Amino acid sequence: MFETFLNLEESATVAINSLAQEKKAKGERVYNLSAGEPMLSPHPAVAKVASIAIAEGKTLYPPVAGIPPLRQASAQWLNTTYQTNYQTANTLITCGGKFGIFAACQAFLKPDDEVLIPAPYWVSYPAIVKLFGGKPITVMGDETNNWKVSALELEKLATPKTKMLILNNAGNPTGSLYARTELAEIVSLAKARGWMIISDEVYSGLSYDGEFISLGSFPEITDNLILVQSFSKHFAMTGWRVGMIFAPEYAIKILTKIQGQSTTGTSSISQYAALSALENATEIQTQVCAEMRSRRDALVAELNTFSKEKISAPASGLYLFFPLKILGVENITSAEFCLKILRDANIALVPGSAFGCEGYARASFGAPVEELKDAVSALKKYLKM
Ligand code: GLU
Repeated sequence: MFETFLNLEESATVAINSLAQEKKAKGERVYNLSAGEPMLSPHPAVAKVASIAIAEGKTLYPPVAGIPPLRQASAQWLNTTYQTNYQTANTLITCGGKFGIFAACQAFLKPDDEVLIPAPYWVSYPAIVKLFGGKPITVMGDETNNWKVSALELEKLATPKTKMLILNNAGNPTGSLYARTELAEIVSLAKARGWMIISDEVYSGLSYDGEFISLGSFPEITDNLILVQSFSKHFAMTGWRVGMIFAPEYAIKILTKIQGQSTTGTSSISQYAALSALENATEIQTQVCAEMRSRRDALVAELNTFSKEKISAPASGLYLFFPLKILGVENITSAEFCLKILRDANIALVPGSAFGCEGYARASFGAPVEELKDAVSALKKYLKM
């Protein structure tokens, strides 16, 4: 056996989801509220275009940066939806948003660079930063401010080694939405300090209460901004693996080279499907968002029938991030609790510790309402509440 020199932890969201899927494949009844995905069938137009692409043999290597009509339509979609100003040359199609973040860290981090990461954070940010020798610096958000961090809090933890900020708005796992004024302060700090910002905005289309503001709509920061988007959440296309990066041309060029030396780009079939999703964007996004809103409300209502303290609905995203004490669960770590309920009751939640926040758990509401209700009943039964 060869030794690996990689110091890489497993992704908690992916690991728990895989375990839940394995159990399901064995025929067990599993209540999977782990990985965040809007569980919906593909829109008929998307499915049709994908099968036509196969039938017509559009199945050879696509251009590394993505098929030109998709790059163009993606930039146009972002510009009209979020008041940004990107061209095709600023747009890269990736294997999901995650690979875009991975490639950006690979391209721009050097050993010992410090990266500010507001917490609770999405599980993969610190792991990716460490993979490229960077040092993740956690900036803990305050629950009373919907877990958001201020420019002042970021500044307190900045040092001359700070190179980058990874901001996630709308937030996973918190569902928080940053206001324009809050973003403006962060933008002026980042600009003054010369930081790069990776802005992960993949949940922007799932904003229920309040307005989503894209960092791409601040022209003063676009030279330092890598904006990450994805088809996964907006268009319920997680398994198709199509993401988008919007960035200055110099960044797109290096990220394209990384892609050319690694994935060679994402599936051509998925790219034609994604193009069709953009052609039907308003209809699909409205449907997905409305459906996720009703799933959110159903999960909140179910949990509130027996939780010790009432939880409120997150403003955006796909998750409830709640303290375990509302379930009467104490004196056990979130990881131990989540492992225990998965093993003993086949309920899959992600522990707060994976997001840098002990004492909490994340439940995805991407599954259909009946499934969510069954999961909460199973939880209630397990906890004898
Ligand atoms: N981003 C989703 C989540 O947080 C999908 C799983 C993953 O890639 O981490 O559950």
